[in-house]
Amino acid sequence: MGYKIAIDGPAGAGKSTIAKKVAGQLGFIYVDTGAMYRAMALFLMNENIDPEDTEGINAKCKEADITIRYENGEQVVYLNKENVNGMIRTQQVSNMASHTSANPNVRKKLVELQQKLAADTDVVMDGRDIGTCVLPDAEVKIFLTASSRVRAERRYKELLAKGEECDIDVIEKEIALRDHQDMTREISPLKPADDAVFVDSSYMTIEEVADMIIDMVEKKTGKKV
Ligand code: C5P
Repeated sequence: MGYKIAIDGPAGAGKSTIAKKVAGQLGFIYVDTGAMYRAMALFLMNENIDPEDTEGINAKCKEADITIRYENGEQVVYLNKENVNGMIRTQQVSNMASHTSANPNVRKKLVELQQKLAADTDVVMDGRDIGTCVLPDAEVKIFLTASSRVRAERRYKELLAKGEECDIDVIEKEIALRDHQDMTREISPLKPADDAVFVDSSYMTIEEVADMIIDMVEKKTGKKV
């Protein structure tokens, strides 16, 4: 079965950085489910599908062959055999993914892939519905959040470091809109699982949050990492 750690939360809460760190320390596989929704969004954008066109999404999403490989310890997402890791982190793809991830056919396809990846291995998986839907039996569930300003500041610094011009107020508005869409969609909305531990990382360092999760695993398993 493997040991499962689910980390859910809104955009920019630090999920992927923390999940990657925890996975590295525990020797688990890290699965970034957002990257799969992003790859699907990129595919639909390239096919000129309108984010509101449900019929078009239903028809086209079947043609997206999304696979995951691990190369030098990094998750690499392939879309129809092409490595798309370098193309899925734009604001445009973020916004498209937030729309298209509400589609039931898109979710069904990607949840199946995620469950297959987690079968029989120890994983740290992050997303929006991992604790509630993808891995409901996960041994450790974290709902990681931070204030919208802090989350916007983190994204702003990331984009600046990549040399992208940006406006922090615009980023904060886009994050708030994406959260609203993710929280209010009908299927698998972003919400804490009943048995999730709620963590506000606004004033915590990455190390502090990662140590807290490792601590939980050690207490549950009775083993030192
Ligand atoms: O986590 P990330 O920002 O990369 O996710 C991009 C988008 O993919 C989210 O805004 C959300 O709409 C969608 N997503 C989802 N379920 C997941 C992971 C991501 O709906 N498990």
